[in-house]
Amino acid sequence: MRFAIATLGCKVNQYDSAMIESRLGALGMERAEFSEPADVYIVNTCTITDRADTESLRLARRARRLNPHARVIMTGCLAQANPARLDNASMVDAVVGLGRPGDLERAVRGEATERVMVANLRKERAAIELGTVALDGRTRAYLKLQEGCDQFCTFCIVPFARGQSRSVEPRRVIEAIDGLHARGFREVILTGVHLGGYGRDLDPPAVLEDLLEMVAERSPIERVRISSIDPEELSDRAIAIVAGNEKFCPHFHLPLQSGEDATLARMRRRYDTAHFRERVERVVAAMPTAAIGTDLIAGFPGESPFQFEQYFRFVESLPLAYFHVFPYSVRAGTTAAKFGDRVAPAEIKRRAAALRALGERKRTDFAARAAGSILKVLLEERIEGRLCGYSRNYVRVAADGPAELINSEVEVEASFVEGAQVVGQIIRRIIPGCDSLRGGAAVSA
Ligand code: SF4
Repeated sequence: MRFAIATLGCKVNQYDSAMIESRLGALGMERAEFSEPADVYIVNTCTITDRADTESLRLARRARRLNPHARVIMTGCLAQANPARLDNASMVDAVVGLGRPGDLERAVRGEATERVMVANLRKERAAIELGTVALDGRTRAYLKLQEGCDQFCTFCIVPFARGQSRSVEPRRVIEAIDGLHARGFREVILTGVHLGGYGRDLDPPAVLEDLLEMVAERSPIERVRISSIDPEELSDRAIAIVAGNEKFCPHFHLPLQSGEDATLARMRRRYDTAHFRERVERVVAAMPTAAIGTDLIAGFPGESPFQFEQYFRFVESLPLAYFHVFPYSVRAGTTAAKFGDRVAPAEIKRRAAALRALGERKRTDFAARAAGSILKVLLEERIEGRLCGYSRNYVRVAADGPAELINSEVEVEASFVEGAQVVGQIIRRIIPGCDSLRGGAAVSA
């Protein structure tokens, strides 16, 4: 049987799709591209914006057109948050909520007795399917160790779509990292929907810092990256663990969302700009070359031109390395959807464009600061004849070298900047367990 899967949304959704793929592959099913004829089409939906809902339904219609006899199965956040909308869609055969791999398999095989299989994840604790997934080739792997969220920021549908926060026990996380190492991965990205909430639901409860210390002590993998953590949850202890252990990449993604306090309050975020600045300065003091990235929403309801000016000046003044910018769009079912004083769409667009332009400047400036330094880079692929990969502090690096170096960590002397990418010479291959000064094989360029 041939199946095709289309995935919308975030890394966590891509992670879930990769898990579905490996499950169905293990059942002997063959993966097809979504544009090809298949017996089963799965749409892993997103519901972060109204537009994501529309796109999810468009993919279902496309699947039906590609093969009128195929089974069209909807899963993911829209299926979880608004199953009725998909249940009413004539081109859909089954709606399967999050955390129900067994039901999804039955639906794929056409053995499901119900059309809609969705539990209330605010009430029920759906177990997290722990698996290790390589989303980018075979060098870096994502490990989802937390799911759901209990924060209810006013613009966000995730707590309704992905349910209550739940975590994977530290012991299983360490085992999974061992498994990744055995499969040859050189970097693991610890990810979750709300990583800062890690461990609160466990018995006995734990905190992310406990897990990070265990990883520091026991992880055989040389590069560990933390995907995203909310500013108020980045503790001095976490900063000290990352700064104090060579394994952790000096890279933090701290979603700010707005650079203006009144807007942060309306978003129900749990910090203000002074706290955010203090966290950023604390990181830079401990790790001067660390990369700090952020998420920014442009045009949140009630954001006056003056407030946006303050917001812009605030982020401009911070030593940030890059931004992910999201133009605000109304998400039905969130608290903010009821807010008045909306910003005009053209103005939202203008503000988002201004933040993106600033973000590009920050990214190029950050890369430029690396010129002349030695970067430790995990080479992932060859692009336009050069080997490319990310440094530990998340700078994109390109260098000439033999293909055998792919999936190796090397030292690169950074020469010049090309856009937001640094170009340099490989000076040494880093052999795990040998520090670059004494050990490791010199590499002829
Ligand atoms: S912390 Fe806020 S923005 Fe993040 S997933 Fe939870 S509710 Fe959404």
